[in-house]
Amino acid sequence: MSYIYPKRELCPLCEYMEGRLPCSKIVRGKYVSAFMNLRQRSVGSVLVAPHRHVQALTMLNTDEAHELIDLTNRIGRAVVDALKPQGLHSWCNVGEPAGQSLPHLHFQIVPRYEDVPYTFVGSAELTITAPVDLEVIAAKLIESMNRRTPALAEAV
Ligand SMILES: [Zn+2]
Repeated sequence: MSYIYPKRELCPLCEYMEGRLPCSKIVRGKYVSAFMNLRQRSVGSVLVAPHRHVQALTMLNTDEAHELIDLTNRIGRAVVDALKPQGLHSWCNVGEPAGQSLPHLHFQIVPRYEDVPYTFVGSAELTITAPVDLEVIAAKLIESMNRRTPALAEAV
């Protein structure tokens, strides 16, 4: 089975990270970025993706893989610290049979709250969040990361 997809003309994840689609950036590392897009699965959902357009974790070099997992871990801790969810998803899908809808590797960090019924829908069906709300939430996550690991959290 091949995980290789041709690079699309416009990959939304590349567009977010290169500033051509609106999102709230949280961290831009050397190889990986974390940001919130307007389609929130739950309040405070964050995407963590390598800058390089690759589809699978197995396509990363060691430095990229380390930064991806480290940043995913730190974003998860910041979401728990800042937003106080009662549950947390952190996952990535690889390959269409696994539900990957974009051929660009990314982890999704999705807080879950007891007072919000659990749902799971495709990305295209998610409601659009107001950008100002995202900026408020992103600021909380950045503050949490800076408080917890000031040397590692590079706000953008
Ligand atoms: Zn891409």
